[in-house]
Amino acid sequence: MPVASTSSTNQKHSHVDILILGAGPTGLGAARKLTKQNNQNWLMIDAADRAGGMAVTERDEKGFLWDMGGHVIHSHFDAFNDAINSHNDWVYPQRGGWVRVENAWCPTPIQRHLGNLKKGEQICQEINEIQSKGVSMADQEAKNLGEYFSSTFGPTLNDIFFTPFNSKQWAWPLDKLNHTWTSLRAGSKAANVPKPKSVVTSSDQPDDISNFPYPRLGTGDLWQSVARALPADKQRYNTYVTSIDLDEHTVTLDNGETVSYGHCISSLPLSVSIELVNAAKPNAAIPISLKPLLKHSSTTVVGLGFDGPLPKELEGKTWVFGADADVSFHRCTILTNFSPSLSEGENGSGSRWSVMFETASSEHRQIDIRPDVLAKKHLAELRRWGAVKEDQEPISTWSRHLQLGYPIPFLERDEVLLSDDNSSGIIQRFEKFGFVQRGRFGGWRYESSNQDYAFVQGYEAVDLIQTGAQESIYWPGRADKVTLPAAPKSKSIQSPTTPSEVASAAGTQCLLPNANETNGHGNQEHYKQNGGSLVHAQ
Ligand SMILES: Cc1cc2nc3c(=O)[nH]c(=O)nc-3n(C[C@H](O)[C@H](O)[C@H](O)COP(=O)(O)OP(=O)(O)OC[C@H]3O[C@@H](n4cnc5c(N)ncnc54)[C@H](O)[C@@H]3O)c2cc1C
Repeated sequence: MPVASTSSTNQKHSHVDILILGAGPTGLGAARKLTKQNNQNWLMIDAADRAGGMAVTERDEKGFLWDMGGHVIHSHFDAFNDAINSHNDWVYPQRGGWVRVENAWCPTPIQRHLGNLKKGEQICQEINEIQSKGVSMADQEAKNLGEYFSSTFGPTLNDIFFTPFNSKQWAWPLDKLNHTWTSLRAGSKAANVPKPKSVVTSSDQPDDISNFPYPRLGTGDLWQSVARALPADKQRYNTYVTSIDLDEHTVTLDNGETVSYGHCISSLPLSVSIELVNAAKPNAAIPISLKPLLKHSSTTVVGLGFDGPLPKELEGKTWVFGADADVSFHRCTILTNFSPSLSEGENGSGSRWSVMFETASSEHRQIDIRPDVLAKKHLAELRRWGAVKEDQEPISTWSRHLQLGYPIPFLERDEVLLSDDNSSGIIQRFEKFGFVQRGRFGGWRYESSNQDYAFVQGYEAVDLIQTGAQESIYWPGRADKVTLPAAPKSKSIQSPTTPSEVASAAGTQCLLPNANETNGHGNQEHYKQNGGSLVHAQ
Protein backbone atom coordinates (compact mmCIF):
# COMPACT_ATOMS: atom_id res chain seq x y z
CA MET A 1 0.00 0.00 0.00
CA PRO A 2 1.47 3.38 -0.92
CA VAL A 3 0.06 5.36 1.98
CA ALA A 4 -0.90 4.16 5.43
CA SER A 5 -3.40 5.79 7.71
CA THR A 6 -4.23 5.56 11.37
CA SER A 7 -7.59 6.55 12.75
CA SER A 8 -7.20 5.74 16.43
CA THR A 9 -8.09 9.36 17.19
CA ASN A 10 -10.53 11.59 15.30
CA GLN A 11 -7.63 13.05 13.39
CA LYS A 12 -6.55 11.25 10.22
CA HIS A 13 -2.90 10.53 9.81
CA SER A 14 -1.02 9.08 6.88
CA HIS A 15 2.61 8.50 6.03
CA VAL A 16 4.59 8.63 2.78
CA ASP A 17 8.26 8.25 2.02
CA ILE A 18 8.30 11.32 -0.22
CA LEU A 19 5.77 14.10 0.16
CA ILE A 20 5.52 16.57 -2.72
CA LEU A 21 4.03 19.96 -1.86
CA GLY A 22 2.78 21.89 -4.87
CA ALA A 23 1.65 20.40 -8.20
CA GLY A 24 3.15 23.01 -10.51
CA PRO A 25 5.94 22.06 -12.93
CA THR A 26 8.39 21.42 -10.04
CA GLY A 27 6.07 19.06 -8.16
CA LEU A 28 5.08 17.35 -11.40
CA GLY A 29 8.77 16.80 -12.23
CA ALA A 30 9.29 15.05 -8.90
CA ALA A 31 6.08 13.04 -9.34
CA ARG A 32 7.06 12.00 -12.86
CA LYS A 33 10.43 10.72 -11.67
CA LEU A 34 8.81 8.73 -8.85
CA THR A 35 6.18 7.32 -11.21
CA LYS A 36 8.90 6.01 -13.50
CA GLN A 37 10.30 4.05 -10.58
CA ASN A 38 6.99 2.26 -9.85
CA ASN A 39 5.88 1.22 -6.37
CA GLN A 40 7.27 4.29 -4.69
CA ASN A 41 5.37 5.56 -1.68
CA TRP A 42 4.64 9.22 -2.39
CA LEU A 43 1.85 11.78 -2.40
CA MET A 44 1.51 15.19 -4.09
CA ILE A 45 -0.68 17.88 -2.49
CA ASP A 46 -1.84 21.21 -3.90
CA ALA A 47 -4.21 23.92 -2.73
CA ALA A 48 -5.47 24.56 -6.26
CA ASP A 49 -8.18 22.49 -7.91
CA ARG A 50 -5.82 21.15 -10.56
CA ALA A 51 -2.18 20.68 -11.50
CA GLY A 52 -0.09 23.38 -13.17
CA GLY A 53 0.65 25.99 -10.50
CA MET A 54 1.41 29.33 -12.14
CA ALA A 55 1.44 27.56 -15.49
CA VAL A 56 -2.36 27.13 -15.59
CA THR A 57 -4.83 28.45 -18.15
CA GLU A 58 -8.26 29.86 -17.37
CA ARG A 59 -11.29 30.15 -19.63
CA ASP A 60 -13.33 33.31 -19.05
CA GLU A 61 -17.10 33.69 -19.41
CA LYS A 62 -16.79 34.68 -23.06
CA GLY A 63 -14.70 31.61 -23.83
CA PHE A 64 -11.30 33.32 -24.15
CA LEU A 65 -8.38 31.33 -22.72
CA TRP A 66 -5.77 33.10 -20.59
CA ASP A 67 -2.41 31.95 -19.25
CA MET A 68 -1.11 33.63 -16.09
CA GLY A 69 1.18 35.87 -18.13
CA GLY A 70 2.76 34.95 -21.46
CA HIS A 71 4.24 31.45 -21.23
CA VAL A 72 6.73 30.20 -23.80
CA ILE A 73 8.09 26.69 -23.57
CA HIS A 74 11.84 26.47 -23.81
CA SER A 75 13.13 22.96 -23.68
CA HIS A 76 16.66 22.06 -22.74
CA PHE A 77 16.24 18.75 -20.99
CA ASP A 78 15.48 15.17 -22.03
CA ALA A 79 13.39 14.50 -18.93
CA PHE A 80 11.22 17.52 -19.73
CA ASN A 81 10.90 16.59 -23.40
CA ASP A 82 9.89 13.10 -22.41
CA ALA A 83 7.19 14.46 -20.08
CA ILE A 84 5.69 16.98 -22.50
CA ASN A 85 5.43 14.25 -25.12
CA SER A 86 2.45 13.02 -23.11
CA HIS A 87 0.60 16.02 -24.58
CA ASN A 88 -0.43 15.74 -28.21
CA ASP A 89 -2.28 18.95 -29.03
CA TRP A 90 0.33 21.47 -30.17
CA VAL A 91 0.63 24.45 -32.46
CA TYR A 92 3.92 25.92 -33.69
CA PRO A 93 3.71 29.71 -33.83
CA GLN A 94 6.50 31.86 -35.20
CA ARG A 95 8.38 34.08 -32.77
CA GLY A 96 7.87 37.78 -33.31
CA GLY A 97 9.30 39.99 -30.55
CA TRP A 98 9.00 43.76 -30.95
CA VAL A 99 9.80 46.76 -28.82
CA ARG A 100 7.45 49.72 -28.76
CA VAL A 101 9.80 52.64 -28.26
CA GLU A 102 9.65 56.35 -29.10
CA ASN A 103 6.14 55.75 -30.42
CA ALA A 104 7.46 53.40 -33.12
CA TRP A 105 8.22 49.70 -33.66
CA CYS A 106 11.70 48.22 -33.30
CA PRO A 107 12.36 44.50 -33.84
CA THR A 108 14.09 42.55 -31.05
CA PRO A 109 16.72 42.53 -29.83
CA ILE A 110 16.77 46.32 -29.85
CA GLN A 111 20.57 46.43 -29.41
CA ARG A 112 21.00 44.72 -32.76
CA HIS A 113 18.62 47.00 -34.70
CA LEU A 114 20.08 50.41 -34.01
CA GLY A 115 19.06 51.68 -37.44
CA ASN A 116 15.44 51.45 -36.34
CA LEU A 117 16.06 54.02 -33.58
CA LYS A 118 16.07 57.81 -33.96
CA LYS A 119 19.42 58.08 -32.18
CA GLY A 120 20.89 54.95 -33.77
CA GLU A 121 24.11 56.68 -34.95
CA GLN A 122 24.83 58.11 -31.51
CA ILE A 123 24.11 54.79 -29.78
CA CYS A 124 26.38 53.01 -32.24
CA GLN A 125 29.22 55.45 -31.50
CA GLU A 126 28.82 54.88 -27.78
CA ILE A 127 28.85 51.10 -28.18
CA ASN A 128 31.94 51.33 -30.42
CA GLU A 129 33.70 53.39 -27.76
CA ILE A 130 32.89 50.80 -25.11
CA GLN A 131 34.02 47.95 -27.31
CA SER A 132 37.23 49.74 -28.40
CA LYS A 133 38.29 49.80 -24.76
CA GLY A 134 38.30 46.02 -24.99
CA VAL A 135 35.66 45.60 -22.35
CA SER A 136 33.53 42.64 -23.26
CA MET A 137 30.23 41.70 -21.67
CA ALA A 138 31.81 38.62 -20.12
CA ASP A 139 34.45 40.52 -18.17
CA GLN A 140 32.31 43.43 -17.10
CA GLU A 141 32.73 44.03 -13.44
CA ALA A 142 29.49 45.87 -12.98
CA LYS A 143 28.34 45.91 -9.38
CA ASN A 144 24.66 45.78 -10.24
CA LEU A 145 22.20 45.53 -13.10
CA GLY A 146 22.00 49.29 -13.69
CA GLU A 147 25.79 49.56 -14.04
CA TYR A 148 25.84 46.50 -16.25
CA PHE A 149 23.39 48.01 -18.74
CA SER A 150 25.06 51.42 -18.94
CA SER A 151 28.57 49.98 -19.22
CA THR A 152 27.50 47.49 -21.90
CA PHE A 153 25.13 49.53 -24.06
CA GLY A 154 26.16 53.14 -23.37
CA PRO A 155 24.11 55.98 -21.91
CA THR A 156 21.70 56.66 -24.77
CA LEU A 157 20.36 53.14 -25.38
CA ASN A 158 20.29 52.70 -21.64
CA ASP A 159 18.09 55.81 -21.26
CA ILE A 160 15.82 54.91 -24.15
CA PHE A 161 15.32 51.26 -23.36
CA PHE A 162 17.28 49.30 -20.79
CA THR A 163 16.62 51.39 -17.71
CA PRO A 164 12.95 52.25 -18.32
CA PHE A 165 12.05 48.75 -19.50
CA ASN A 166 13.89 46.85 -16.78
CA SER A 167 12.72 49.22 -14.05
CA LYS A 168 9.17 48.35 -15.09
CA GLN A 169 9.73 44.63 -15.54
CA TRP A 170 11.50 44.12 -12.21
CA ALA A 171 9.64 46.90 -10.35
CA TRP A 172 12.80 47.19 -8.33
CA PRO A 173 15.68 49.72 -8.47
CA LEU A 174 18.29 48.36 -10.87
CA ASP A 175 21.14 49.24 -8.52
CA LYS A 176 19.71 46.71 -6.05
CA LEU A 177 19.69 43.80 -8.54
CA ASN A 178 22.46 41.45 -9.60
CA HIS A 179 23.19 40.95 -13.28
CA THR A 180 24.36 37.36 -13.43
CA TRP A 181 21.07 36.27 -15.02
CA THR A 182 21.80 38.40 -18.11
CA SER A 183 24.66 36.25 -19.32
CA LEU A 184 23.80 32.97 -17.66
CA ARG A 185 21.11 30.46 -18.26
CA ALA A 186 21.90 26.96 -17.08
CA GLY A 187 21.53 24.42 -19.85
CA SER A 188 21.17 27.01 -22.61
CA LYS A 189 23.85 28.26 -24.96
CA ALA A 190 22.14 31.59 -25.57
CA ALA A 191 22.64 34.48 -23.16
CA ASN A 192 19.50 36.13 -21.81
CA VAL A 193 20.65 39.53 -23.06
CA PRO A 194 22.30 39.23 -26.51
CA LYS A 195 25.39 41.27 -27.39
CA PRO A 196 24.90 44.61 -29.15
CA LYS A 197 25.68 45.11 -32.84
CA SER A 198 28.01 48.07 -33.34
CA VAL A 199 26.74 48.93 -36.82
CA VAL A 200 23.67 50.94 -37.69
CA THR A 201 21.46 48.49 -39.52
CA SER A 202 17.71 48.48 -39.61
CA SER A 203 15.38 45.60 -40.20
CA ASP A 204 11.70 44.94 -40.60
CA GLN A 205 11.80 41.69 -38.71
CA PRO A 206 13.19 40.37 -35.42
CA ASP A 207 16.41 38.33 -35.42
CA ASP A 208 14.65 35.26 -34.10
CA ILE A 209 11.64 34.22 -36.14
CA SER A 210 11.90 30.53 -35.37
CA ASN A 211 8.85 28.51 -34.46
CA PHE A 212 8.17 27.34 -30.93
CA PRO A 213 5.84 24.67 -29.57
CA TYR A 214 2.78 25.91 -27.71
CA PRO A 215 -0.13 23.83 -26.34
CA ARG A 216 -3.08 24.72 -28.60
CA LEU A 217 -5.45 25.29 -25.67
CA GLY A 218 -2.96 27.08 -23.44
CA THR A 219 -0.06 26.25 -21.16
CA GLY A 220 -2.30 24.74 -18.51
CA ASP A 221 -3.55 22.09 -20.93
CA LEU A 222 -0.01 20.73 -21.22
CA TRP A 223 0.34 20.32 -17.47
CA GLN A 224 -3.06 18.63 -17.24
CA SER A 225 -1.72 16.03 -19.67
CA VAL A 226 1.46 15.60 -17.64
CA ALA A 227 -0.65 15.14 -14.47
CA ARG A 228 -2.97 12.65 -16.18
CA ALA A 229 0.03 10.43 -16.91
CA LEU A 230 0.62 10.11 -13.13
CA PRO A 231 -1.30 7.84 -10.75
CA ALA A 232 -4.53 9.64 -9.81
CA ASP A 233 -4.57 8.27 -6.27
CA LYS A 234 -1.28 9.96 -5.44
CA GLN A 235 -2.50 13.46 -6.35
CA ARG A 236 -4.63 15.55 -4.01
CA TYR A 237 -6.03 18.92 -4.99
CA ASN A 238 -8.13 21.52 -3.13
CA THR A 239 -5.97 20.63 -0.14
CA TYR A 240 -4.16 23.35 1.79
CA VAL A 241 -1.09 22.79 3.87
CA THR A 242 -1.68 24.84 7.02
CA SER A 243 1.47 24.06 8.99
CA ILE A 244 4.79 22.28 8.62
CA ASP A 245 6.49 20.63 11.59
CA LEU A 246 10.09 20.14 10.50
CA ASP A 247 11.15 18.26 13.65
CA GLU A 248 8.30 15.77 13.38
CA HIS A 249 8.49 15.53 9.56
CA THR A 250 4.76 16.22 9.47
CA VAL A 251 2.45 18.62 7.67
CA THR A 252 -1.08 19.51 8.73
CA LEU A 253 -3.81 19.98 6.14
CA ASP A 254 -6.84 22.26 6.20
CA ASN A 255 -9.12 19.32 7.07
CA GLY A 256 -7.11 18.64 10.23
CA GLU A 257 -5.40 15.60 8.74
CA THR A 258 -1.67 15.15 9.24
CA VAL A 259 0.75 13.57 6.80
CA SER A 260 4.19 12.48 7.92
CA TYR A 261 7.02 12.01 5.46
CA GLY A 262 10.52 10.65 5.18
CA HIS A 263 11.57 13.53 2.95
CA CYS A 264 9.65 16.42 1.47
CA ILE A 265 10.05 18.19 -1.88
CA SER A 266 8.28 21.51 -1.56
CA SER A 267 7.63 24.04 -4.33
CA LEU A 268 5.54 26.19 -2.02
CA PRO A 269 6.98 29.68 -2.07
CA LEU A 270 9.86 29.83 0.39
CA SER A 271 8.15 32.74 2.15
CA VAL A 272 4.97 30.64 2.57
CA SER A 273 6.92 27.65 3.90
CA ILE A 274 8.61 29.89 6.48
CA GLU A 275 5.16 31.03 7.62
CA LEU A 276 3.84 27.46 7.77
CA VAL A 277 6.85 26.29 9.78
CA ASN A 278 6.17 29.09 12.26
CA ALA A 279 2.47 28.20 12.31
CA ALA A 280 3.49 24.77 13.64
CA LYS A 281 5.94 26.08 16.22
CA PRO A 282 6.52 29.75 16.96
CA ASN A 283 10.25 30.50 17.21
CA ALA A 284 10.91 27.54 14.98
CA ALA A 285 14.28 26.60 13.54
CA ILE A 286 13.50 28.87 10.62
CA PRO A 287 12.53 32.18 12.21
CA ILE A 288 9.79 34.28 10.66
CA SER A 289 12.26 37.18 10.63
CA LEU A 290 13.90 35.56 7.59
CA LYS A 291 10.80 36.03 5.45
CA PRO A 292 11.23 39.75 4.68
CA LEU A 293 14.73 39.04 3.38
CA LEU A 294 13.14 37.43 0.33
CA LYS A 295 12.26 40.08 -2.26
CA HIS A 296 9.62 39.71 -4.93
CA SER A 297 7.51 41.72 -7.31
CA SER A 298 3.82 41.26 -8.09
CA THR A 299 2.35 40.97 -11.57
CA THR A 300 -1.08 42.14 -12.66
CA VAL A 301 -2.17 40.39 -15.81
CA VAL A 302 -4.96 41.96 -17.85
CA GLY A 303 -6.43 40.27 -20.91
CA LEU A 304 -8.51 42.06 -23.54
CA GLY A 305 -10.59 40.04 -26.01
CA PHE A 306 -12.06 41.54 -29.18
CA ASP A 307 -14.46 40.66 -31.96
CA GLY A 308 -13.23 40.72 -35.54
CA PRO A 309 -10.03 39.75 -37.34
CA LEU A 310 -6.59 40.42 -35.84
CA PRO A 311 -5.58 44.00 -36.74
CA LYS A 312 -2.77 44.19 -39.30
CA GLU A 313 -0.66 46.21 -36.80
CA LEU A 314 -0.39 43.06 -34.67
CA GLU A 315 0.26 40.58 -37.45
CA GLY A 316 3.57 38.72 -37.04
CA LYS A 317 3.94 39.90 -33.44
CA THR A 318 3.93 37.53 -30.49
CA TRP A 319 5.32 39.92 -27.86
CA VAL A 320 5.52 43.66 -27.56
CA PHE A 321 7.88 45.04 -24.92
CA GLY A 322 6.70 48.43 -23.70
CA ALA A 323 9.84 50.51 -23.25
CA ASP A 324 8.45 53.99 -22.74
CA ALA A 325 8.21 55.00 -19.11
CA ASP A 326 4.70 56.45 -19.53
CA VAL A 327 3.34 53.03 -20.60
CA SER A 328 2.47 51.01 -17.48
CA PHE A 329 2.93 47.45 -18.79
CA HIS A 330 6.26 45.89 -19.67
CA ARG A 331 5.03 43.06 -21.88
CA CYS A 332 2.05 42.54 -24.12
CA THR A 333 1.46 39.06 -25.54
CA ILE A 334 -0.58 38.69 -28.73
CA LEU A 335 -2.27 35.44 -27.75
CA THR A 336 -4.06 34.95 -31.06
CA ASN A 337 -0.64 34.63 -32.69
CA PHE A 338 0.33 31.95 -30.15
CA SER A 339 -2.77 29.92 -30.92
CA PRO A 340 -5.98 31.14 -32.58
CA SER A 341 -7.84 28.66 -30.35
CA LEU A 342 -7.10 30.87 -27.32
CA SER A 343 -9.42 33.52 -28.76
CA GLU A 344 -11.97 31.46 -30.63
CA GLY A 345 -14.14 30.34 -27.73
CA GLU A 346 -15.30 26.84 -26.95
CA ASN A 347 -17.40 26.54 -30.10
CA GLY A 348 -14.79 28.09 -32.35
CA SER A 349 -16.92 31.22 -32.59
CA GLY A 350 -15.93 33.24 -35.64
CA SER A 351 -13.03 35.64 -35.85
CA ARG A 352 -11.87 37.05 -32.53
CA TRP A 353 -8.52 38.10 -31.14
CA SER A 354 -6.96 38.61 -27.74
CA VAL A 355 -3.97 40.28 -26.12
CA MET A 356 -2.61 40.09 -22.61
CA PHE A 357 -0.65 42.75 -20.70
CA GLU A 358 1.67 42.24 -17.72
CA THR A 359 2.31 45.06 -15.26
CA ALA A 360 4.73 44.69 -12.37
CA SER A 361 4.50 46.40 -9.00
CA SER A 362 6.31 46.28 -5.67
CA GLU A 363 7.12 48.42 -2.66
CA HIS A 364 9.41 50.31 -5.06
CA ARG A 365 6.87 50.66 -7.87
CA GLN A 366 3.59 51.58 -6.28
CA ILE A 367 1.26 52.24 -9.16
CA ASP A 368 -2.49 51.98 -9.55
CA ILE A 369 -2.99 48.33 -10.46
CA ARG A 370 -6.77 48.22 -10.29
CA PRO A 371 -7.72 46.09 -13.31
CA ASP A 372 -10.25 48.59 -14.69
CA VAL A 373 -7.65 51.36 -14.52
CA LEU A 374 -5.01 49.21 -16.20
CA ALA A 375 -7.47 47.93 -18.82
CA LYS A 376 -8.29 51.51 -19.84
CA LYS A 377 -4.59 52.34 -20.17
CA HIS A 378 -3.89 49.22 -22.22
CA LEU A 379 -6.83 49.95 -24.51
CA ALA A 380 -5.52 53.49 -25.02
CA GLU A 381 -2.14 52.03 -25.97
CA LEU A 382 -3.73 49.66 -28.50
CA ARG A 383 -5.46 52.71 -29.98
CA ARG A 384 -2.13 54.57 -30.19
CA TRP A 385 -0.75 51.61 -32.13
CA GLY A 386 -3.68 51.93 -34.52
CA ALA A 387 -4.78 48.39 -33.62
CA VAL A 388 -8.14 49.40 -32.11
CA LYS A 389 -10.48 52.09 -33.42
CA GLU A 390 -11.71 54.88 -31.13
CA ASP A 391 -15.24 53.45 -31.02
CA GLN A 392 -14.17 49.81 -30.60
CA GLU A 393 -14.36 48.22 -27.13
CA PRO A 394 -13.20 44.79 -25.91
CA ILE A 395 -15.92 42.15 -25.60
CA SER A 396 -14.05 40.61 -22.70
CA THR A 397 -11.77 41.99 -19.98
CA TRP A 398 -10.09 39.45 -17.71
CA SER A 399 -7.50 39.98 -15.00
CA ARG A 400 -5.49 38.22 -12.34
CA HIS A 401 -3.17 39.65 -9.74
CA LEU A 402 -0.19 37.43 -9.00
CA GLN A 403 0.96 38.47 -5.56
CA LEU A 404 4.19 36.61 -6.20
CA GLY A 405 5.09 37.55 -9.76
CA TYR A 406 8.88 37.41 -10.05
CA PRO A 407 11.47 36.22 -7.51
CA ILE A 408 13.79 39.22 -7.51
CA PRO A 409 17.53 38.58 -8.06
CA PHE A 410 18.42 41.15 -5.37
CA LEU A 411 22.10 41.74 -4.62
CA GLU A 412 22.24 39.79 -1.36
CA ARG A 413 20.04 36.97 -2.61
CA ASP A 414 22.65 34.24 -2.92
CA GLU A 415 23.92 34.70 0.66
CA VAL A 416 20.35 34.78 1.97
CA LEU A 417 19.60 31.44 0.31
CA LEU A 418 22.95 29.69 0.80
CA SER A 419 25.46 30.87 3.34
CA ASP A 420 29.19 30.26 3.35
CA ASP A 421 28.92 28.50 6.71
CA ASN A 422 26.83 25.84 4.91
CA SER A 423 24.01 26.05 7.39
CA SER A 424 22.39 29.46 7.90
CA GLY A 425 21.11 30.10 4.36
CA ILE A 426 17.34 29.63 4.17
CA ILE A 427 17.59 26.74 1.69
CA GLN A 428 20.22 25.02 3.84
CA ARG A 429 18.13 25.45 6.99
CA PHE A 430 15.26 23.56 5.35
CA GLU A 431 17.54 20.87 3.92
CA LYS A 432 18.88 20.07 7.40
CA PHE A 433 15.40 18.71 8.12
CA GLY A 434 15.16 16.63 4.95
CA PHE A 435 12.88 19.31 3.46
CA VAL A 436 13.98 20.26 -0.07
CA GLN A 437 12.65 23.62 -1.28
CA ARG A 438 12.82 23.94 -5.07
CA GLY A 439 11.06 25.68 -7.97
CA ARG A 440 10.29 29.25 -9.03
CA PHE A 441 9.43 30.71 -5.63
CA GLY A 442 10.30 27.48 -3.84
CA GLY A 443 13.98 28.01 -4.64
CA TRP A 444 13.75 31.77 -5.36
CA ARG A 445 16.16 31.76 -8.29
CA TYR A 446 14.66 33.55 -11.27
CA GLU A 447 17.30 32.34 -13.70
CA SER A 448 16.58 28.67 -13.18
CA SER A 449 12.83 28.62 -12.80
CA ASN A 450 11.12 28.62 -16.16
CA GLN A 451 8.81 25.64 -16.65
CA ASP A 452 11.47 23.29 -18.02
CA TYR A 453 13.97 24.25 -15.31
CA ALA A 454 11.36 23.98 -12.57
CA PHE A 455 10.31 20.55 -13.83
CA VAL A 456 13.90 19.27 -13.83
CA GLN A 457 14.50 20.77 -10.38
CA GLY A 458 11.73 18.51 -9.09
CA TYR A 459 13.08 15.55 -11.03
CA GLU A 460 16.60 16.01 -9.67
CA ALA A 461 15.37 16.54 -6.11
CA VAL A 462 14.17 12.92 -6.12
CA ASP A 463 17.68 11.74 -7.05
CA LEU A 464 19.14 13.93 -4.33
CA ILE A 465 16.90 12.28 -1.75
CA GLN A 466 17.31 8.73 -2.99
CA THR A 467 20.98 8.60 -3.94
CA GLY A 468 22.57 11.84 -2.75
CA ALA A 469 23.31 12.79 -6.39
CA GLN A 470 24.06 16.51 -6.46
CA GLU A 471 21.74 18.57 -8.64
CA SER A 472 22.83 20.41 -11.77
CA ILE A 473 19.89 22.72 -12.42
CA TYR A 474 18.69 24.42 -9.27
CA TRP A 475 22.03 26.03 -8.55
CA PRO A 476 24.77 25.22 -11.06
CA GLY A 477 28.16 25.27 -9.35
CA ARG A 478 26.61 25.27 -5.88
CA ALA A 479 29.58 25.34 -3.52
CA ASP A 480 28.31 23.25 -0.63
CA LYS A 481 27.56 19.54 -0.87
CA VAL A 482 23.93 18.82 -0.04
CA THR A 483 23.64 16.03 2.49
CA LEU A 484 20.13 15.29 3.62
CA PRO A 485 19.39 13.47 6.87
CA ALA A 486 18.09 9.91 6.65
CA ALA A 487 14.32 9.54 6.83
CA PRO A 488 13.08 9.08 10.40
CA LYS A 489 11.35 5.81 11.25
CA SER A 490 7.70 6.14 10.24
CA LYS A 491 4.89 6.30 12.81
CA SER A 492 3.02 3.11 13.81
CA ILE A 493 0.40 2.20 11.29
CA GLN A 494 -3.00 0.77 12.11
CA SER A 495 -5.21 0.70 9.05
CA PRO A 496 -3.63 0.97 5.63
CA THR A 497 -5.79 2.65 2.99
CA THR A 498 -5.27 4.36 -0.34
CA PRO A 499 -4.89 8.14 -0.47
CA SER A 500 -8.32 8.46 -2.09
CA GLU A 501 -9.91 6.57 0.81
CA VAL A 502 -8.07 8.80 3.25
CA ALA A 503 -9.19 11.83 1.30
CA SER A 504 -12.83 10.89 1.01
CA ALA A 505 -13.04 9.87 4.66
CA ALA A 506 -11.71 13.29 5.55
CA GLY A 507 -14.07 15.07 3.17
CA THR A 508 -11.44 16.31 0.73
CA GLN A 509 -11.17 15.50 -2.94
CA CYS A 510 -8.65 13.36 -4.72
CA LEU A 511 -9.03 14.55 -8.27
CA LEU A 512 -7.58 13.51 -11.53
CA PRO A 513 -7.47 16.90 -13.23
CA ASN A 514 -10.13 17.25 -15.89
CA ALA A 515 -8.87 18.40 -19.27
CA ASN A 516 -12.08 20.30 -20.00
CA GLU A 517 -11.95 22.56 -16.99
CA THR A 518 -9.56 25.48 -17.00
CA ASN A 519 -10.77 27.69 -14.18
CA GLY A 520 -7.50 27.83 -12.26
CA HIS A 521 -7.22 27.92 -8.51
CA GLY A 522 -9.97 26.98 -6.09
CA ASN A 523 -10.80 28.64 -2.79
CA GLN A 524 -8.55 31.66 -3.01
CA GLU A 525 -9.88 33.33 0.13
CA HIS A 526 -8.86 30.31 2.14
CA TYR A 527 -5.62 30.26 0.21
CA LYS A 528 -4.86 33.81 1.30
CA GLN A 529 -5.79 33.18 4.91
CA ASN A 530 -3.34 30.33 4.93
CA GLY A 531 -0.50 32.44 3.65
CA GLY A 532 -0.48 30.82 0.22
CA SER A 533 -1.80 33.76 -1.76
CA LEU A 534 -0.26 33.33 -5.17
CA VAL A 535 -3.04 34.51 -7.38
CA HIS A 536 -6.37 36.17 -6.90
CA ALA A 537 -9.01 37.74 -9.03
CA GLN A 538 -9.32 41.48 -8.70
C1 LIG B 1 3.99 36.30 -15.35
C2 LIG B 1 4.72 35.00 -15.55
C3 LIG B 1 5.26 34.69 -16.80
C4 LIG B 1 5.96 33.49 -16.98
N1 LIG B 1 6.46 33.19 -18.22
C5 LIG B 1 7.07 32.01 -18.44
C6 LIG B 1 7.54 31.64 -19.73
O1 LIG B 1 7.40 32.37 -20.70
N2 LIG B 1 8.14 30.42 -19.87
C7 LIG B 1 8.30 29.56 -18.82
O2 LIG B 1 8.81 28.46 -19.03
N3 LIG B 1 7.88 29.89 -17.60
C8 LIG B 1 7.27 31.09 -17.38
N4 LIG B 1 6.83 31.41 -16.12
C9 LIG B 1 7.20 30.56 -15.00
C10 LIG B 1 6.32 29.35 -14.79
O3 LIG B 1 5.01 29.72 -14.49
C11 LIG B 1 7.01 28.67 -13.64
O4 LIG B 1 8.18 28.05 -14.10
C12 LIG B 1 6.31 27.58 -12.97
O5 LIG B 1 4.97 27.82 -12.71
C13 LIG B 1 7.02 27.33 -11.66
O6 LIG B 1 6.60 26.15 -11.21
P1 LIG B 1 6.69 25.73 -9.69
O7 LIG B 1 6.15 24.36 -9.68
O8 LIG B 1 8.05 25.96 -9.18
O9 LIG B 1 5.77 26.74 -8.87
P2 LIG B 1 4.21 27.04 -8.99
O10 LIG B 1 3.77 26.83 -10.38
O11 LIG B 1 4.02 28.37 -8.38
O12 LIG B 1 3.54 25.91 -8.07
C14 LIG B 1 3.49 26.01 -6.67
C15 LIG B 1 2.23 25.33 -6.22
O13 LIG B 1 2.16 25.37 -4.80
C16 LIG B 1 0.81 25.45 -4.44
N5 LIG B 1 0.68 25.98 -3.07
C17 LIG B 1 1.08 27.18 -2.59
N6 LIG B 1 0.77 27.29 -1.28
C18 LIG B 1 0.19 26.13 -0.92
C19 LIG B 1 -0.32 25.62 0.31
N7 LIG B 1 -0.30 26.33 1.45
N8 LIG B 1 -0.84 24.37 0.32
C20 LIG B 1 -0.87 23.61 -0.81
N9 LIG B 1 -0.40 24.04 -1.99
C21 LIG B 1 0.13 25.28 -2.05
C22 LIG B 1 0.21 26.38 -5.47
O14 LIG B 1 -1.18 26.21 -5.60
C23 LIG B 1 0.97 25.99 -6.73
O15 LIG B 1 0.23 25.09 -7.52
C24 LIG B 1 6.13 32.60 -15.90
C25 LIG B 1 5.58 32.91 -14.65
C26 LIG B 1 4.88 34.09 -14.47
C27 LIG B 1 4.30 34.38 -13.11
